[in-house]
Amino acid sequence: MSNIIKLLPDSVANQIAAGEVIQRPASAVKELLENAVDAGASSVELVVKDAGKTLIQVIDDGCGMSAFDARMSFERHATSKISKAEDLFSIKTMGFRGEALASIAAIAQVEMKTRLHDEELGTCLKIEGSKLVREEPCQCKPGTNIMVKNLFFNVPARRNFLKSNNVEIRHIIEEFTRVALANPDISFTMLHNGKPVFNLQKSSFKARIVNIFGKTYDKKLLPVEQKTELITVSGFIGKPEFSKKTRGEQYFFVNGRFIKHAYLHHAVENAFAELLPADTYPSYFLKIEIDPADIDINIHPTKTEVNFKDGRYVYAVVQSAVKQSIGKHSLTPTLDFDVDPAIDELFQSVPGKEVKQPEIKTNPDYNPFKNTSSHGPEKHTRGDGGDWQKLYENQENREMPAVIPSDEEKMSFAEQNKFFQVHNKYIVTNVRSGLMVIDQKKAHERILFEKFLNELKNKKPVSQQQLFPVTLQFSPSDAEILRSLKDELTALGFTFEKMGNNGFVFQGLPDNVSASEVEGLLETIVENHKKEASNLGINKNIILARSLASRLSVKYGKKLSPEEMEGLFNGLFACEMPETALDGSKTLTILKISDIEELLK
Ligand code: ADP
Ligand code: MG
Repeated sequence: MSNIIKLLPDSVANQIAAGEVIQRPASAVKELLENAVDAGASSVELVVKDAGKTLIQVIDDGCGMSAFDARMSFERHATSKISKAEDLFSIKTMGFRGEALASIAAIAQVEMKTRLHDEELGTCLKIEGSKLVREEPCQCKPGTNIMVKNLFFNVPARRNFLKSNNVEIRHIIEEFTRVALANPDISFTMLHNGKPVFNLQKSSFKARIVNIFGKTYDKKLLPVEQKTELITVSGFIGKPEFSKKTRGEQYFFVNGRFIKHAYLHHAVENAFAELLPADTYPSYFLKIEIDPADIDINIHPTKTEVNFKDGRYVYAVVQSAVKQSIGKHSLTPTLDFDVDPAIDELFQSVPGKEVKQPEIKTNPDYNPFKNTSSHGPEKHTRGDGGDWQKLYENQENREMPAVIPSDEEKMSFAEQNKFFQVHNKYIVTNVRSGLMVIDQKKAHERILFEKFLNELKNKKPVSQQQLFPVTLQFSPSDAEILRSLKDELTALGFTFEKMGNNGFVFQGLPDNVSASEVEGLLETIVENHKKEASNLGINKNIILARSLASRLSVKYGKKLSPEEMEGLFNGLFACEMPETALDGSKTLTILKISDIEELLK
């Protein structure tokens, strides 16, 4: 038997490697743009024709190459960026494998003009299917101008495999976008078939996002900034209310490199989770700076994946950074519960008026504008109070807090009466900037949600033992779900045992759940679990807390006592995200004095 193993010629080896690195025009675009970035360019132009199938050209004003380097750059494993194995742990450039140009040259007709800044002449190279066909000195601008023509001209199978121009150009735009987002301090332009697609000047990161995705993003973005000893997370997230129905703008950059990272994606989705309306996705543009020694980018040939040494740590920082950003946004800066002195006048006391409490909802003698307050008339500036008074008194069912505390009484008494209910749906109260209107159901849901979430975390349930344990039967699959949630349900205060095949007997219930509610509640839990469990970003606890909160919250139409309103109010503002309802909408709004004045014009 003769020997049959032989080394492949370089051209074949390069073609095989090319299959890995260059899958479509967009991959070549990515490599060429990254080379321009690595070359320290301050301006990069991308020109494509026929979605890159006939031409991809990248012109940069970076460092350029000597004649020798220009030739070398097309050799496999030829790179200026690393020279020894240890360098792999301190990579600061986009490329480092030295494969891209060799791969591209194996499957296309490449023409490159390149010139070092301090040289008079540049070098022009032509390579087709890995074969050097021309090399000569030439006149050209400093930097590098590379043209890749007829991609896959010698690999018909690949060429035929390409999708329509529409699809291919979308991939190119995506790659362009990633590189442009990662490098806002470089100007980028893109032309397709002679028409400008992007013209991006150097700018801030935010301006770069806005310039790529459109002006409306200016108002949609929330800044994210978190620094720890080991990493910095910065950038922007889309406000929850602008979340999208399609998985859209989700960008992580690690040390300037776009990456996909399912685990970190979950960190962001988790931070958002309860704020996002169903079936929508958050937008984010997050940059993570980390010591290159703490990551491994060498695990994927196209390098969109990164391994973190301590993934859990990065996860926690990213999640907390996003949560903080949302939290800050949720608390409107105008929120202030100190009553403004000017508004205070509306609630000045009428001396000698006996105040009954808490039954009195209206006080027919209340005149908010009459100058009889103990503070003296000089405080009142509205002269025509008389007409106002009439108007006010003629109203039968006025919904103003009409119990008027004296100064001494104000503290204790007004405190309890500063809320009133509108249509058994909204709670209204005075704040510095105007009237705060709280949606009672959404507010209560938020309170309960955070309470249950905390219980799930802390595992210190408040459970009420039932005099008559509740026995319930379930379908086999539902029973299975309940079994799988046993730990969580226990943390919430459910104590239960298996009974028969698919039944359970509940001896203890959370302290605010009655025996009659338990069946409906568990059905909701199971339903929501089925619906959302497929959504990996939302964890069990959130599903559970949300199910319980929506089920147990006070409904519209329920009349609330002043104590209940106050309880809701205080509970809401003890929450981490008081202003955001579970469906992503708002729990409250403030009707500003200026808005009211506007309405009255
Ligand atoms: P890598 O980027 O992984 O090093 P490439 O095949 O993309 O490998 O490039 C090989 C080498 O060619 C680079 O290391 C760099 O020195 C040089 N090079 C490529 N493109 C440019 C460019 N636009 N400007 C300057 N040098 C370049
Ligand atoms: Mg490269």
